[in-house]
Amino acid sequence: MQLRYQFRVCPTPGQRIRAARVFGCRRVVWNDALSRIKPVKASNKLLGNPKKRLAHGPYRLVPKHPNLAKTLITEAKKTPERAFLIDAPVGVMQQTLRDLDAAWKAHEDSKTGRRKGPKVAPPKFKSRKDNQQAARFTRSDRWSITETSKLRLPKIGDLKVKWTRDLPSAPSSVTLIKDRSGRYWASFVVETDPAADILPPTDGDQGIDLGLTRFAVLADGSHIASPKYLRRAEKKLKKRQRELSRKKKGSSNRDKARIKVARAHANVADARRNFHHQWTHKLTRENQAVFTETLNVRGLARTRLAKSVHDAGWAQFVMFCEYKTIRRGRDFAKVDRHFPSSQICSACGHLDGPKPLHIRQWSCPNCDTLHDRDWNAGKNVRNEGRRILAASATAPSTPGPGARRRQRQRQTPVERT
Ligand SMILES: [Zn+2]
Repeated sequence: MQLRYQFRVCPTPGQRIRAARVFGCRRVVWNDALSRIKPVKASNKLLGNPKKRLAHGPYRLVPKHPNLAKTLITEAKKTPERAFLIDAPVGVMQQTLRDLDAAWKAHEDSKTGRRKGPKVAPPKFKSRKDNQQAARFTRSDRWSITETSKLRLPKIGDLKVKWTRDLPSAPSSVTLIKDRSGRYWASFVVETDPAADILPPTDGDQGIDLGLTRFAVLADGSHIASPKYLRRAEKKLKKRQRELSRKKKGSSNRDKARIKVARAHANVADARRNFHHQWTHKLTRENQAVFTETLNVRGLARTRLAKSVHDAGWAQFVMFCEYKTIRRGRDFAKVDRHFPSSQICSACGHLDGPKPLHIRQWSCPNCDTLHDRDWNAGKNVRNEGRRILAASATAPSTPGPGARRRQRQRQTPVERT
């Protein structure tokens, strides 16, 4: 299983300048390549016969432009306008071309329906003012971790890293990230040993009903209180935002205020992620099986509950649950989005029709059981999860069409410390 391990990096002022140059070179190569392929795409020259194109699969940038790297990196370095490209390792810039290619492919595939899920916009030009800057160093760049535990990146130097844990295996690449609040991170992709994290089996399973008044209600009747970090931090955020809007555009004071706003946002996100890690850790450790709902977060986020929905961050919680159960050899199932978890009586299975949100308690007309709305939903999620699990255990497990692609497209979970 692939995981991302992320550590804080503390660059010196000189290293910050050199890192900014690497980010800049990467950006220039990206933009140069994009400005070249955009007109080409518009005139449709390279695409040829549309029928042929469909038969041969989606349009790819790299195989059609074997010399793109040569033109945009090697040759460009010799010209006075692009002489500064010498400040970045070649591999980082080549990686940029591959990233751009992947972005085009994702866009093309989502247009033709090869890629499921939300539509992917075409790649955009990058700007110095973008929120996040990043550069990926691959093996060919010969980056390393020194004997004094520093991260040696070519053209930047030996960076001090706050190692908070050991890497489970040798990483294949490292990405240096500068986030919107001005913090630097080293992000390693590592292959984890599937056997290392498997826990001895236990019994017990848990159904989780996610909600707004309480973050989650579990099938055993206990609940996780809603932390509402964002609401609490909102006052502070508003103040920072006001300060920012008073600063003159383009001034360095405005930049400083912008970073303060970004920091306030980052603190909220960090606290939320910690909260999710703690609870998913506990739930997947104590139970052999964990069941959750599939939430239509996108749909809910459009309603007037939007702020609370984003605040809760359910999608992240469910994603953590999923990868932790897989990693630990536990079972996991997501109950279908249309499963009426709040309408069924968990005691007798009677389907009682939809109930408005303000109804917190109801009794089953069939068996007279008094239900707490959310607890009942948690029990239903558990029952349905058990059913799904039993069904998948008896059915032959053949991954459906596109299963491998979906696996690839799934985000690599980040273990940030
Ligand atoms: Zn009943």
